[in-house]
This record gives sequence, structure tokens and C-alpha cells, in this order.
Amino acid sequence: MTDTLNIAVLGGDGIGPEVTAEALRALKTAGERFNFKVESESALVGASAVRAGKQPLPDETLKLCLASDAILFGAVGDPAFGDLPPDQLPERALLHLRKGLDLFANLRPVRPVPALLGASSIKAEMLTGVDILIVRELVSGLYFGTPRGYGADEKGRFGFNTMRYHETEIVRVAKVAFDAARKRKKKLCSADKANALEVMQLWRETVTKLGKDSYPDIALNHMYVDNCAMQLVQYPRQFDVLLAENMFGDILSDIGAQITGSLGMLPSASIGGRVGLYEPVHGSAPDIAGKGIANPLAAILSAGMLLTYSAGKLDAAKAIEDAVDAVLADGYRTKDIASQGGANVKVVSTKEMGDAVVAKIRGK
Ligand code: NAD
Repeated sequence: MTDTLNIAVLGGDGIGPEVTAEALRALKTAGERFNFKVESESALVGASAVRAGKQPLPDETLKLCLASDAILFGAVGDPAFGDLPPDQLPERALLHLRKGLDLFANLRPVRPVPALLGASSIKAEMLTGVDILIVRELVSGLYFGTPRGYGADEKGRFGFNTMRYHETEIVRVAKVAFDAARKRKKKLCSADKANALEVMQLWRETVTKLGKDSYPDIALNHMYVDNCAMQLVQYPRQFDVLLAENMFGDILSDIGAQITGSLGMLPSASIGGRVGLYEPVHGSAPDIAGKGIANPLAAILSAGMLLTYSAGKLDAAKAIEDAVDAVLADGYRTKDIASQGGANVKVVSTKEMGDAVVAKIRGK
């Protein structure tokens, strides 16, 4: 063995632990094949922490995360706690973790899998060859800006929020996007609303200057976010890396999710601080938890992103991605994606899908 990756495993609630177990197996198998070791330690988060009499993000969990090389995260959320005030919900753990680890860049690949092209509501011929990386700013902008709240004046009650970005916050997330573009097709599109908002004028100026000064090799274009949303469904192949502030990125990445067509297939990475967090886009799916039927592929693809962004092990990451494509091409399907694939389909459990991916990573 040449080196060791220390992974904090936070399975969380519902199907989180089920899919994270398969992601960890894929990661360890990739390690065996590519000659590195994966050490893992689990910790409580979300409702499972609250049930054990702790905070949604216990101190010891945050401590473990800070001492790790990367975090494999499942999902948090449990309907039994739905009536708690917002600041006590199990889901808050994730926001605290993002803030606590300064995970300012959220990366979501939009790469429709050839075997599942029919799952999207967009025509298959528009999707062939689509490979987009959405980079969303994650810890600032309208969702975090102050002042915020409610007030009242002569016209009655009002609510207000603030979209505020410092240049430094724009530069650091834009660098993540430019660097990613450099490893891909060298194209970056920055979505903004510079025609309506001062903060977005600053965004555009800052991204332009950074591009000119430090990334002259990257073809940069700017797009108003409303046009960008339309272009994403009209002609998605034009995009390589797509950069957006927090709220715009939130919306654009859900459009990206629909391009791929299936929630159980979407991985994500949150990076920027010293320790990256890797999680499927889906939630804890309480309706299917404990039944052994959850699709583990989004979690497994998140483990692949971990290898790319936290370990720089690109061959091992590619082996995971290729293994997922290969099991789908062979007809393996969990129930959620079983309608795609015709007569060739073999409906399998969460664990059986994990077994199939592991076998492919081993080269069998
Ligand atoms: P969800 O993503 O959990 O589920 C939506 C639907 O998709 C459900 O029908 C579910 O069965 C299905 N689904 C999701 N993942 C699947 C998978 N891997 N395989 C097969 N089917 C899958 O969203 P929701 O129902 O809106 O939320 C449930 C809980 O999860 C809530 O408490 C919510 O707050 C939480 N949540 C957490 C995160 C997170 O931890 N990042 C994200 C979204 C929602």
C-alpha cells in the first residue's frame, strides 16, 4: 500500500446509512485496485444523533470530520421530528457542517447516463454528450446575507433578505470553477443577473478580471440567469462548467437534476475548506427506508467525486464512474429506475447493486 485515506462516514437518517455503506465498499474496492488504503470511522448526525440524546451535529462528529481527509455523507431528515422549530430540525446539521467546514463551493455534475437517457423529460438526442459541472457558491449570498427578517411600515408587514458578496467570496468560488474548467473542456459560463442587481455587477466584474489575470486559457462567457435556465433545457450540450451564486445555483442545479432524470443517480461534492463533503443529492427517503431497495448509485458516484477532489486519484474515480455505467449497461436497476432498459432489466436490491458495482471496479 502506498497511502491511506481517512474517511469520516456520516450515514445519517433513513436510507442514508444504506446507500453510504455501498459507497464505502466501492471506495475501499477502488483502493484495493489502485493501491491505497481507506480507513473509515462512523459518527452520528441528524435525527439519529437526536435520538441518541445529542445535538443534530454533535461536537464529536464535527471533531471527527475536521480530523479526516474527507466525509462520506448520507442524508438527514426524519418526519418524526417535522414539528420542531427550524433551528432544531435534524436537517440543520448539514448547514452547520457546511458553515463549520467552510465548504463554499458545491459541485454537481450533470452527466446523463447513456443507459438511462429515456428517464429525462428532455429528448434523448438533446442529451447525448451532455457533461456539465455546476459550481454553486454555498455559504453566502441571499440565503445567508444580513440584515434579514420581518418588519412593518405604513404599507403593512414586509419581509426582507440581503444578497451580499465580498469580492474575496466571488474570487474563491470562481477559482474553483476556473480550475475545474482547466481539467475539462476549458469553457466557463458564469450565470448572473448583472442587468438588475449591483451585487451581480460586482460578480461579473470580478469573474471577468480573474479570468483575464489568471485564466486566459479558459473561454469565459456570462449569461443572465433567466436565459441560462432556458438554455439549459434548450441546448444543454453548450455548457462545460457553469458557475452561479448560491440561490441561482440552487435553482440551476435542480434543472440539471431533471436533465439526468433520476434523483437516485445524482452525486455532489462540497469543497473549499480543508475537508470536503461528498453526498448524494437526494434526501433520507423515509418512504423506502429499511426496505433495502434504495438506489445507491448517487452515493457511489459521490465516492468517485471524493477520489477526484479530495484525493486526486483520478484513475480510481474513473473506475467507479465506469463501473456505474457498466452495471447499468448490463441491465441492473434498482426499483426507482427499473422502467428504463426494456427486456434486459434485472431489478436488484441496494446491496446487490453495490455488489455489481464492486465486481466491475475489480474488473470482473
Ligand atoms: P427525498 O430525496 O428523500 O425523496 C424524494 C423521493 O425520491 C421519495 O419518493 C424517495 O423514495 C425517492 N428517492 C430518493 N432517493 C432515492 C434513492 N436513492 N433511491 C430510490 N428512491 C429515492 O426527498 P423528500 O422526500 O423531500 O425528503 C425526505 C427527507 O429528507 C426530509 O426530511 C428532507 O428534509 C430530507 N432531505 C435531506 C437532504 C440531505 O440530507 N441533503 C436533501 C433533501 C431532503
